[in-house]
Amino acid sequence: MTCTENVEFTEILPEDIDELIRYYEQYLNGGDFIGTSIRKAAKENRYYGIKALINNETAGYFSFQKGIVLTYPYPKYEEELRIASKDSVIDTVDALMVIPRFRRKGLASELAKRARKELIKRGVTQYMVEIWMYPDGSIPAKKIYESMGRVLYSKAVPDFYKYAHEYGLVCPVCGKICKCGALLEIIDVN
Ligand SMILES: [Zn+2]
Repeated sequence: MTCTENVEFTEILPEDIDELIRYYEQYLNGGDFIGTSIRKAAKENRYYGIKALINNETAGYFSFQKGIVLTYPYPKYEEELRIASKDSVIDTVDALMVIPRFRRKGLASELAKRARKELIKRGVTQYMVEIWMYPDGSIPAKKIYESMGRVLYSKAVPDFYKYAHEYGLVCPVCGKICKCGALLEIIDVN
């Protein structure tokens, strides 16, 4: 870390879930569907990750769900990803988030390093990530995810969120009808 502030990393605990959902809704996807599915995953012990604290305040987090989980059910791509991941132990990125006022301090790369170690510790060999592609085609988070391992599968789906509103999802960029796309990737962390 290049910053001088007091940074601490902890495991995400069940009592963190409400706060994480609030950030998720604020910066990623809005809508009750997200909160409900994260709470369900946490309750079933399928949710884990690393949280960064700066001066005891949540500055960011990197979380995962066990297995292959897309933002909303999309059987066609779930099947493709399952085939591509073969018999590996694979988990999915739920969110990598740095609260705006804590950005530009290298926190995301530090979270990525620690998240990779956590995956290895858990015996996870690959992870899947649905990387946000903005309507202008930019994919800001691509580099950081790909820094965690070897890309085994990569598929850009420009209209990935076209059915998201049917699940009540709201995009912070587009609003109700989301024109963003997703880059689906499987990364080998070994
Ligand atoms: Zn959008």
